[in-house]
Amino acid sequence: MRFGIRTLDEARLEGRTVLCRVDINQPVDRKSGTLKSTARIEACVPTLKELSQKGARVVILAHQGSDIEYKNFYSTAPHALALSGFLGRKVGFIDDVTGPAARAAIKNLKNGDLLLLDNVRFCSEEQTLFELELKLSHEEQAKTEVVRKLAPLADLYVCDAFAAAHRDQPSLCGFEQVMPSYMGRLFEREYVVISELMQRPEHPCVYVLGGAKVGDAFLMMDTVLSRGMADMVLTGGLVANILLAAKGDNIGQGSLEFIRKSGNAQHIDTARSLLEHHIGKISLPRALAYLADGKRQEAALPDLPESAAALDISSDDARHYAGIIRSAKTIFVNGPMGVFEDAETETGTKIVWDALGDTKGYTVIGGGDSITATGKYGKAGQIDYICTGGGALIRFLSGEELPVVKALRHAASVFP
Ligand code: ADP
Ligand code: MG
Repeated sequence: MRFGIRTLDEARLEGRTVLCRVDINQPVDRKSGTLKSTARIEACVPTLKELSQKGARVVILAHQGSDIEYKNFYSTAPHALALSGFLGRKVGFIDDVTGPAARAAIKNLKNGDLLLLDNVRFCSEEQTLFELELKLSHEEQAKTEVVRKLAPLADLYVCDAFAAAHRDQPSLCGFEQVMPSYMGRLFEREYVVISELMQRPEHPCVYVLGGAKVGDAFLMMDTVLSRGMADMVLTGGLVANILLAAKGDNIGQGSLEFIRKSGNAQHIDTARSLLEHHIGKISLPRALAYLADGKRQEAALPDLPESAAALDISSDDARHYAGIIRSAKTIFVNGPMGVFEDAETETGTKIVWDALGDTKGYTVIGGGDSITATGKYGKAGQIDYICTGGGALIRFLSGEELPVVKALRHAASVFP
């Protein structure tokens, strides 16, 4: 038991049927039916390998896209192929989730076999709008189609989907109500890394928060500074622009317009209150980069042209942040310093990521675009931990108990 949740060390697996929920969701190319990345698939391989090698009959449950991410709503058939490659053993696939075909295939599994069911969100009760509108309790989730049809065929449930741990959906929180449940190895590892980051980071501990998910960044900023987890927050991206606007600094009309159009104007008041509550702990850029005739220009805030839209922090600010990162003991990063996808506005992110690569401090990175930047600048091998979870990680660091964690703890207390 760890964090009140059972680990695989306690599970008897030989000859038993295991329902294993993973998060291998990622962008798909619908035309060719291929996956654009396999990083998440690779990350859950250790758990699946262990279950299979210990003689379990492994039924894998996963989602791909959703009602609100419809462009990626797709079958999990390509995932089975990718999984087979990484495992070096065939992972079967059936284009059914809870129907008679899926149930028959599950009953036919032999010890060590693996079977991936089709996209669990093909069941309506797994849809995100269903989750958001109906807010089923965990007891109610136990009565949904996926749990009623699959739980009777299995002996235990394993959740390895840390990246989906902030979702309150039946395949994630329902099985724990009716059967013994465990966290998988990836879930456990992510939980350990993030808990340690929260509970005993080595100081000085610096959070680098940039990117465009301003609400999430502000929630995290407030929690980590209020609790003394972070000594300093370095800001970039849209997050920095909004803090500067709240302070009354000139960031250019183009920036203000972007903030309004992207629905982020509501965060300006929160930004003001953060600056009042955490005086001296939130670092802001002193100069910003913008484009003029498609070319990068930098200017100190008072000198930014009236119409400018700031797309990056300045090189000087980035070098200043790099110095702080190089002398910190713990560094957590979520969100790039600017629009790093474009060569003219990637400088801030590149300088900061170079420092992440060569600092002696312990580095943790989370967030899809931040991970993309890590790959782009070739730093993946130098970062201590790259977290697969975006939303779950942020909510965890904001002090929330994740629905899946709550459900797994419940199972540990009711199934001896
Ligand atoms: P992550 O995926 O790492 O959590 P986000 O999704 O929050 O990060 O933010 C990444 C996005 O933010 C990128 O697409 C980047 O282009 C954009 N971005 C960064 N800086 C700015 C800025 N100043 N203005 C507008 N968009 C920005
Ligand atoms: Mg992103």
